[in-house]
Amino acid sequence: METRPRVLLCPPDQFGIEYVINPWMVGHLGHGRRDAARAEWARFRAAIEPHCEVLLLGPAPGLPDLCFTANLALVHGEQAVLGRFAVAERRPEESIAREWLTGHGWHVVQTDEPLEGEGDALFQPGEPLLWAGYGIRSALPAHAELVELLGVEAVSLRLTDERFYHLDMALLPLPGGRLVWYPPAFDEPSRLAVAARIDERHRLAVTADEALAFACNGLRLGTTIFCHQASPRLRDALGEWGYALVELPLDEFLLAGGAAKCLALFLDQTPFPRPAAPPAPAVAATRLRLTGHLLDGDLLNRVTDEVTAAGGSLRVEALDLAARHAEPSTATLHLAAPSPRRLEALAARLLAHGAELAEPLEPARLVPVVAPGVAPEEFYSTTIWPTDVLVGGRWLRARDQRMDAVLVVEAEAVPPLARCVLLRDLRPGQLVVCGARGVRVHATTRRATGEFAFMRSEVSSERRVERVVDELAWELQRIRARSGRTVVVAGPVVVHTGGGPYLARLIRDGYVQAVLAGNALAVHDLEQQFFGTSLGVDLARGVGVHGGHRNHLTAINRIRATGGIAEAVSQGMVTAGICYECVRAGIPLVLAGSIRDDGPLPETLMDLVEAQRAYAEAIRGADLILMLASMLHAIGTGNMTPAGVKLVAVDISPAVVTKLADRGSVESVGVVTDVGLFLNLLARRLGR
Ligand code: NAD
Repeated sequence: METRPRVLLCPPDQFGIEYVINPWMVGHLGHGRRDAARAEWARFRAAIEPHCEVLLLGPAPGLPDLCFTANLALVHGEQAVLGRFAVAERRPEESIAREWLTGHGWHVVQTDEPLEGEGDALFQPGEPLLWAGYGIRSALPAHAELVELLGVEAVSLRLTDERFYHLDMALLPLPGGRLVWYPPAFDEPSRLAVAARIDERHRLAVTADEALAFACNGLRLGTTIFCHQASPRLRDALGEWGYALVELPLDEFLLAGGAAKCLALFLDQTPFPRPAAPPAPAVAATRLRLTGHLLDGDLLNRVTDEVTAAGGSLRVEALDLAARHAEPSTATLHLAAPSPRRLEALAARLLAHGAELAEPLEPARLVPVVAPGVAPEEFYSTTIWPTDVLVGGRWLRARDQRMDAVLVVEAEAVPPLARCVLLRDLRPGQLVVCGARGVRVHATTRRATGEFAFMRSEVSSERRVERVVDELAWELQRIRARSGRTVVVAGPVVVHTGGGPYLARLIRDGYVQAVLAGNALAVHDLEQQFFGTSLGVDLARGVGVHGGHRNHLTAINRIRATGGIAEAVSQGMVTAGICYECVRAGIPLVLAGSIRDDGPLPETLMDLVEAQRAYAEAIRGADLILMLASMLHAIGTGNMTPAGVKLVAVDISPAVVTKLADRGSVESVGVVTDVGLFLNLLARRLGR
């Protein structure tokens, strides 16, 4: 049987909406009616008084929210964790609460990070378990402090809807391992964390309407729950659990974003004996250094967004701003996440933005592969950026850099080495880097300038096409002059749009060192050589040819009869076109198969793993990859290309181009235009 608990209230004599610090206050500035608030509060006090002992904190001028005493502290036995407000407007309340609590015999402590009292920290009654909210007001690292101060387990729950800016607006824990809650106020991992601890039969979810009427913000005293409004459904459901709901309209306080629970602070929360070993703080934190164009380059924003979306929290501890525009700045960041595992995953993601762990250097965590083709669960997943792994006190630069691979370390090799390996190629016993520890990524956050100005991660509009063509032509000439490598990835649209002869000319003139495509490009190029049509359409006249629909099949059939494209060329059957020029120039024409393919041509690689390998081989050492109207093959190639290789993607669809140009690499450029027109312009520009 619970004894009559003491609660702290503060008369709303200074209440009003004098600032806007939550969505409830928006539009109500200056509208709070103090008399109405006083009357509601008096009824509230009179109703709860038979169920508890009310202690009073005197109102203070200029502090309209002091009546929301729940935010002032979290009391646990003799100890009171004084609230630390995230919002400046309420900070003056802290000293008043400190004075009152100290004066009434509590040992007052305070977290270093914002924690808005019981607003964001609620005990599961009768259990050494604290639900702790963060994400809007309280900060995640404060939860770790709470665990240390109180010796109880804390489960961090991230609030994602500004209207439910405190935990006590979306969660009401009840004895017997039960609770009332509004799940959409939380992110997915938080919902799972609640579900992992509270049996489904013991979780009562309220509807949006109920939640917005502050159904979760009830003050439970014994078996009575006082709240602003209760739907009949809720009343019945709670009745079945043995609770009586008492409705007390608190409309004036709702304007400020508070209701019953906000108005009362529990003063008697029985402390749990400290366990012999303190509970492990669930919240994990680390320090990162981030160097780059933090402000103008938007880097800090992007990193903050990424952390927030992943349920972590970020605090800038130090900021060393560059004196000049062109110089990079450095920020030291304190990164926290609700569990060590999520911290590792998040830190690993931030490495891709060029962040570096600032903690004392620790070697990479290496976990052996057990089953062939399967990585250890927490594998570090690679990016396009050059990556180093710290092994045996040395940074090893990973070989074969590409994205979506894992890092395998051969520690026993002389010298030891690290490489990017695809999941499917893993062999038992290989050591795979797990987590972000001991991993360093050299992401270039700088924007390219000067001569490579066009090679920027942006999508060009039609009117920029000519300029891009000019600059691309110049680049192709330079690559050819130094015997570099340009790889073309092309789809059949190149042929349909009349671009075939121009691409053929580029190959003939030595500007292309490999062509990567699918079955269709070759089929339609050959169809054009045999019949002058592409998919049965006469390219010269732009009209369909009678019986032309079978032309591409006939082309396939002829090549199959001959044995292959190279044979057809050597027999003089094919005398021009893209395939012809590839054979003549002796450059790889790699055709990757797909489920759409007719035929296929003998050269088409229908084993996709083999095709991926052949593509990867063909782009090795490439200086520039020109991607022409093939979403499938362009994206496939982009995924295996490391940073440092210039990518030019030409497609009529902005979405495709954006995806390719969006790799975050400074060398990617997208051109939204018709590929036939583009190749025509490029060939003319090069022929000048
Ligand atoms: P895809 O959908 O991957 O890419 C086509 C791209 O071309 C799209 O991104 C589209 O926006 C773009 N595009 C369309 N018109 C354009 C224009 N005028 N200018 C610039 N861009 C334009 O398709 P895909 O690469 O053509 O083919 C996918 C797979 O299907 C390939 O493996 C291909 O070989 C196969 N395929 C086979 C056959 C065949 O064997 N007969 C026929 C067609 C496709």
